[in-house]
Amino acid sequence: MSLNKEEILAQNRSAQPPRYGLVWPIVFAVLSFFSVVAAFGISHDTIAEDIEVHRVVEDLLLPLRRTEQASESRQFWREERIQRGDTVSTILVRLGVDDPEATKYLLQARGVRSLYQLLPGRTVRAITTNHGRLEQLTYLNTNGKRLLVERTAEGFVASEKVPDLEARIMQSSGEIASSLFGATDAAGLPENVAIQLADIFSSDIDFNRDLRSGDRFAVVYEANYAHGEFVGVGRVVTAEFMNQGKTYRAVYFQDQNGRGGYYAPDGKNVRKAFLRSPLVFTRVTSRYSNSRFHPILRKWIAHRGIDYGARTGTPVRATADGRVEHAGRKGGYGILVSLRHANGYATRYAHLSRIAKEIRRGRRVSQGEVIGYVGQTGRATGPHLHYEFLANGVHRNPATLALPPGPPITPDLRNEFQTVAAVLFQRLDLLGDTNLALLD
Ligand SMILES: [Zn+2]
Repeated sequence: MSLNKEEILAQNRSAQPPRYGLVWPIVFAVLSFFSVVAAFGISHDTIAEDIEVHRVVEDLLLPLRRTEQASESRQFWREERIQRGDTVSTILVRLGVDDPEATKYLLQARGVRSLYQLLPGRTVRAITTNHGRLEQLTYLNTNGKRLLVERTAEGFVASEKVPDLEARIMQSSGEIASSLFGATDAAGLPENVAIQLADIFSSDIDFNRDLRSGDRFAVVYEANYAHGEFVGVGRVVTAEFMNQGKTYRAVYFQDQNGRGGYYAPDGKNVRKAFLRSPLVFTRVTSRYSNSRFHPILRKWIAHRGIDYGARTGTPVRATADGRVEHAGRKGGYGILVSLRHANGYATRYAHLSRIAKEIRRGRRVSQGEVIGYVGQTGRATGPHLHYEFLANGVHRNPATLALPPGPPITPDLRNEFQTVAAVLFQRLDLLGDTNLALLD
């Protein structure tokens, strides 16, 4: 797996909300709609034709809120879209605010500094009197909070609060002409959705090598809105990818303990039980080998692990659910965390600068949980993570090993899963039909 992809996917993971149905964290700056990412290109032996991309975006919920509209005839409710180069003053002019006291407050008060972030495309709303006196002003900040400035008997008061987010279901489909990101850009899909799409199918499809011109995708995802304004992408709820004539489908499903995952129609987990790498940003500095020249011992020995160069303090993640078997110093390993996983697997994380709080022998850890931090304790020339992967006590190369699949849907949840999946897969079917209709 290349660096680029790991990095992108890592960003994606960190942007993922922890739970389905709760308030989503808001993803702003990462949504660069027009940037073309070089990763995931189709292989060079395929002919990249410019195939038209068909896009269907349907708004399933359209709660048009008008509650902010002032009912009194003396008040005007106005909304202005921020343009590049706008300042607080120019916005106020366009909002029809002719109120020196308000202007002074908005330019000087501490509590309204976030208004200066004026993000092009966002809107500022104001309620004014017919004489231009400002009564109320609202703006959705880049931190996802809504700034509210109100006139009171004691003067203006500013407050910030997290707005209620409303998740809308969006859907889109497209065809690969030259690259995944080229196609998703053309379909108007936020980059974060493309990254999730690639992440979901990364166990079955190598997006760096396997893509072909003519491959197709369909995706249903959540987009978060606050008072009608798009604030970020949520989770992909179901997706389909047709790669080289083979169709892969996945649906998101969460069990009663809040553990979610992506599953194929037959209930199998589409992802692997192990993360490919224990670090979010990976740079392999020494590969797995049965023989290499050791820089400190100055002799040829086997290197039965993978070294990832990273700065001291970089968080190290458990690559799978498991139990802590060792957490502490151990000879040349320096500070080491060893984990035991289901089905006879074990992983080791060595040369740590320190172990994460609460990580001690016997404790359960979940996949992705931070267990320690990169360092150079023990026999190490510089800060790096030495990662070992063992199957039934035998060292294996995690980079090339066919990793076991994640746990499937358990029998007790099978009925519930099938009900949820049927509805969502039907949506993909409809999305496919719409495409065909467009192609005629
Ligand atoms: Zn090593």
